[in-house]
Amino acid sequence: MKADRLTLVESGGIKKWACLTCPGGCGEVINLSLNPNQRPRWRISEDFWLRPTIHPSVHQKNECGCHFWIKNGQTTWCRGGRPSKPSKGEIDTCYRGK
Ligand SMILES: [Zn+2]
Repeated sequence: MKADRLTLVESGGIKKWACLTCPGGCGEVINLSLNPNQRPRWRISEDFWLRPTIHPSVHQKNECGCHFWIKNGQTTWCRGGRPSKPSKGEIDTCYRGK
């Protein structure tokens, strides 16, 4: 199984969105707003290898219902938030999108 990918959408040097495919296996694209003026919003940081850490956790409200943290590109499932068919749950690199 391939690692998931996360796309960082930047505009004017400001990170606006983090887009990733749900690691719960439902295939839905999750768009996380990084705009500090909006709620809810997330913070993202990258380590030396560009692996993302996202704060706070991501909770999907669809039928997949997964709830997870991403730390250094590794998905950590919350109690009760682990889907039945999770993907590999690794994000090796942040890609830059426009
Ligand atoms: Zn899902």
